[in-house]
Amino acid sequence: MAVPEELLDILACPVCHRPVRPDGDELVCTGCGLRYPVRDGIPVMLPEEARRPGVGESA
Ligand SMILES: [Zn+2]
Repeated sequence: MAVPEELLDILACPVCHRPVRPDGDELVCTGCGLRYPVRDGIPVMLPEEARRPGVGESA
């Protein structure tokens, strides 16, 4: 499910305050690389909900 572009414009990573970009079902921080889930089209911009770019994931 796509996140509207105007929403992406105002969203920022709560950890490092960089913009995020959509990647599949997630929003990826362009700064620290945390991956925020999108639930029912609503980005969940919570560090505790985010996934870290993990071990075993190709960069
Ligand atoms: Zn970040």
